[in-house]
Amino acid sequence: MTQVAQPLFGEDSASDALAEGTVDVVVIGGGAAGLNGALILARSRRSVVVIDSGSPRNAPAEAVHGFIVFDGTPPSEILRRGREQVRQYGGRVVQGEVVSAEPAAPSADGDLRFTVTLADGRSVTARRILVATGLTDVLPEVPGLAEHWGHSVVHCPFCHGWEVRDEPIGVLATGPASIGHALLFRQLTEDLTYFTHGTDLDEDSRARFAARGIRVIDTPVTEVVNDTGGALAGVRLVDGQVVARRVLAVGPRMQARTQGLEGLGLPVQDLPNMARGFASGAAGITEVPGVWVAGNATDPVAQVGASAAAGALAGADINKVLAIADTDAALQGIVEVGPKGATG
Ligand SMILES: Cc1cc2nc3c(=O)[nH]c(=O)nc-3n(C[C@H](O)[C@H](O)[C@H](O)COP(=O)(O)OP(=O)(O)OC[C@H]3O[C@@H](n4cnc5c(N)ncnc54)[C@H](O)[C@@H]3O)c2cc1C
Repeated sequence: MTQVAQPLFGEDSASDALAEGTVDVVVIGGGAAGLNGALILARSRRSVVVIDSGSPRNAPAEAVHGFIVFDGTPPSEILRRGREQVRQYGGRVVQGEVVSAEPAAPSADGDLRFTVTLADGRSVTARRILVATGLTDVLPEVPGLAEHWGHSVVHCPFCHGWEVRDEPIGVLATGPASIGHALLFRQLTEDLTYFTHGTDLDEDSRARFAARGIRVIDTPVTEVVNDTGGALAGVRLVDGQVVARRVLAVGPRMQARTQGLEGLGLPVQDLPNMARGFASGAAGITEVPGVWVAGNATDPVAQVGASAAAGALAGADINKVLAIADTDAALQGIVEVGPKGATG
């Protein structure tokens, strides 16, 4: 298969060579979760390779908000610094897309092995895998909506709510979760309109909306309307009426990025808020021995800070499991394990 990897997100397009032999951990996905997992592992003197296809979920956003210290920093800058820090401790960050990951024959002492293959045909063997591939936001099919995603079409009141405060905001409902979403956006503006757009809105919720001054429109929306400068100006209803809005809040369907990882056999489950992600337990452990998951791939509501924290927890857990495996191997006298882990 020939597929060209997207450049790493941001100005830094450097890509390290893929390691020879067996590495301790391959991290699939180099967003906040994957990079923080890799940082913990590299600082524990584990050989770690991050493979990243360069399309983090928040790529359209101008800045990351709600993340202490980094509030207001462009996503590309946070990732550039994260890659630099992983490399500082000997971790590798490789630009590429993983198209297959699967268990391989175990080592002589019975330790797990995985083969990870990139779209350009290169492959690497790893003792453990951390999946941190994030998720895809699937927007409702309303003409003109997608082009404003991450700017005037927003989903997260904590990420960009402050930036759109006091604007005329419309909530384009996508399901029951939109009701709670509306109350959060009402905290940010007094001018809020709720477009039911074919979803149910019960009488109790209508009364609660009325009490908070939230206008409800049941006529379906047909398209997003722009002003002459291309900025979002409102929505057109099926009856032709245009309702002026500067911002639309939409709850997308959130689907973990699972492509290429099928060979790992990770269970996928439905989650609240129209989401689907990898099933995991504490510290990102999964039912599949040797495979951990972190960040939006398993927790769709995790923001950047929570995703980074999840990656760090998974990285620490992987290091702990590897330390036990190294000790088992030493007891058997089969492999000589150095501070950088197994190499053959
Ligand atoms: C528009 C928008 C704005 C946001 N703003 C904020 C904000 O202000 N504050 C905040 O805290 N959160 C914000 N978020 C949420 C934030 O994007 C997520 O919390 C965060 O990106 C999750 O990190 P992650 O590492 O799990 O996934 P991601 O950041 O999505 O990283 C996953 C990485 O894995 C790579 N990948 C996927 N599949 C493969 C594969 N097969 N092979 C190799 N690489 C692969 C992708 O290219 C990507 O680089 C925003 C989200 C959106 C949509």
